Amino acid sequence: MKIIMLGAPGAGKGTQAKMIADKYALPHISTGDIFRANIKNGTQLGMEAKKYMDQGQLVPDELTVKILLDRVAQEDCKNGYVLDGFPRTIPQAEVLDEALTKLGESIDYAIDVDVPDENIVKRMGGRRACVMCGATYHIEHVPPKAEGICDRCCEKLILRDDDKPETVKNRLKVYHDQTQPLIDFYTAKGVLRTVDGTVDMNDVFAAIVSILGE
Ligand code: ADP
Ligand code: AMP
Repeated sequence: MKIIMLGAPGAGKGTQAKMIADKYALPHISTGDIFRANIKNGTQLGMEAKKYMDQGQLVPDELTVKILLDRVAQEDCKNGYVLDGFPRTIPQAEVLDEALTKLGESIDYAIDVDVPDENIVKRMGGRRACVMCGATYHIEHVPPKAEGICDRCCEKLILRDDDKPETVKNRLKVYHDQTQPLIDFYTAKGVLRTVDGTVDMNDVFAAIVSILGE
């Protein structure tokens, strides 16, 4: 099963993608996580990507598409995957579509996690991420057991630079301009499903399971 998670930054794509990946035994592929790992390791790609990410802009398609196509060509993706944060532009979606068509494959579901902008700004300010393993928390909705410390690896939790309010506003604008058109793109392909992302994360997941099947 090949699944794409759509939705504004902070809508809960990563949260749901991890739950889907666990339940259906699929790899969870987040281009944001790939860029952050590259930044942490000081690679050329990481240094280039950081310039855009810090401003809430998208990393250019030339850089993004190649890493994604290389990733989905790996052995663990042969039975499908959950894409989280890709595609984010129509050209990215077209490149993915062409690559899949060549293999006689296609996306099964594009799940839009729908959350209005007002809720997003609040959510992002409360998001905390582990610098080591990438696990995400929320200071109110999903607090760690010990304040500021990751439950999984005991590392420090941080507020991502791009989750600061000024950058979040930019990211929302970029989302509406460049990513939201994908809703029409996947509607036209007959694979778009929308879930209400404002409810409790377990209820969001239940709605997704009712779409994907048990
Ligand atoms: P995205 O991957 O779309 O950017 P995340 O999954 O990281 O979003 O979620 C953004 C923040 O909102 C995180 O702090 C997360 O813990 C929290 N969150 C996710 N889903 C919900 C929900 N249904 N209700 C409240 N908070 C949520
Ligand atoms: P995310 O972790 O998905 O919120 O992504 C964090 C940041 O990484 C985004 O704001 C972009 O700067 C960059 N990014 C992640 N995925 C993509 C993509 N598919 N295209 C362009 N930029 C991306």
